[in-house]
Amino acid sequence: MPSNQELFERAARSIPGGVNSPVRAFGSVGGTPRFIARAQGPYIHDAEGTRYIDYIGSWGPAILGHAHPEVIRAVQEAAVNGLSFGAPTEAEIDIAEALIRRIPSIEQVRLVSSGTEATMSAIRLARGFTGRSKIVKFEGCYHGHADSLLVKAGSGLLTFGNPTSAGVPPEFVAHTLVLEYNNLDAVAQAFEQHGNEIACIIVEPFAGNMNLVKAAPGFLEGLRELCTRHGAVLVFDEVMTGLRVGPQGVQGLTGVTPDLTTLAKIIGGGMPVGAFGGRADIMARIAPVGDVYQAGTLSGNPVAVAAGLTTLRLLEAPGFYEQLAIQTRKLTDGLQARAQAAGVPFCADAVGGMFGLYFRDSIPTRYAEVSQCDTQAFNRFFHGMLDHGVHFAPSAFEAGFVSATHDDGVIQHTLDAAEDVFETVRA
Ligand code: PLP
Repeated sequence: MPSNQELFERAARSIPGGVNSPVRAFGSVGGTPRFIARAQGPYIHDAEGTRYIDYIGSWGPAILGHAHPEVIRAVQEAAVNGLSFGAPTEAEIDIAEALIRRIPSIEQVRLVSSGTEATMSAIRLARGFTGRSKIVKFEGCYHGHADSLLVKAGSGLLTFGNPTSAGVPPEFVAHTLVLEYNNLDAVAQAFEQHGNEIACIIVEPFAGNMNLVKAAPGFLEGLRELCTRHGAVLVFDEVMTGLRVGPQGVQGLTGVTPDLTTLAKIIGGGMPVGAFGGRADIMARIAPVGDVYQAGTLSGNPVAVAAGLTTLRLLEAPGFYEQLAIQTRKLTDGLQARAQAAGVPFCADAVGGMFGLYFRDSIPTRYAEVSQCDTQAFNRFFHGMLDHGVHFAPSAFEAGFVSATHDDGVIQHTLDAAEDVFETVRA
């Protein structure tokens, strides 16, 4: 049985950094990534046969726990009928209708295969619809890796201390205004200066890529009002928060309805599905009915859609989100109590099945505050927990995720481990 270290060394010879997405390489926490052999419920098992409680959940999708039997069965049944057709299917209508029923802003929706494609397409659509070029994004928000969005983008990039990416010509980001999250005055000022040039605001309505940072009361309402007043499109990037913080995403929690919404992660149930949707008059501009081009060979893939549809159905179980939120709070409250007992500056926050852990005294409201977290303390915590069989995200700038299978026993095991580990964090 090869060790994680042997696999990492072998991987690095054929794959840049040994991984297919940067944060997996443990770059900011150091050490050897665990190579996962299988996963079930709240657990992942690595190549060495070690079991971990998983708080990454595939970075969000695994809300039902890993390998839910009904999702696996749906995938198997769909696969038998063919893996991809490049032609429309009835299941695509079913998932479109399911998303329209759930997400308040969505009147029509187009499927893609990732969150990156969803945000990239939504921005092109907003620009096509308004005939304007500039876009507004917020420091610390990540919307995938489209060129124009790789400006102060969050987690992976924050982790590497590299706020932009090489390979993006300055001209490509010249139309991207980057403002401070939760700072409505800055947005109002931008609209005063460029109001009739701004195509859209794209925002993580609760940010999950600079750790968890919730929108301050009035922030989203203010964005809505400014966009309406200036004829700009408001895009909520709910790739992470959609169906994670509650059944209708942040827009359901806050009552603020954007013009367009992007989704991915949970709607694919662990398979590659993304979506962008919103007002019917805006969506009418997408090809083939409209003049904004967008396409995909594997868009609406039948196997991926089967996983997504089954996941969406299972999320409708009565009390699902209430229970998920209770378990998540048990985790964050419990961690906070144990950190306090150990004298470690630490706090935590949660919404639905999503949480943030901050090695500082108060919950951050913007990127500048997130960056004040004690990353060394986080790294000690991360490795200590890993040694105790608990796998948090390998970066102080990532949100964490709880699934429906994180029962009291799993949470208690985590808290018992944390009680020991916080002692070493303080040292
Ligand atoms: N938008 C948000 C808010 C995300 O969190 C992510 C990924 O984490 C993306 C977009 C990009 O999605 P993907 O990794 O599926 O391309």
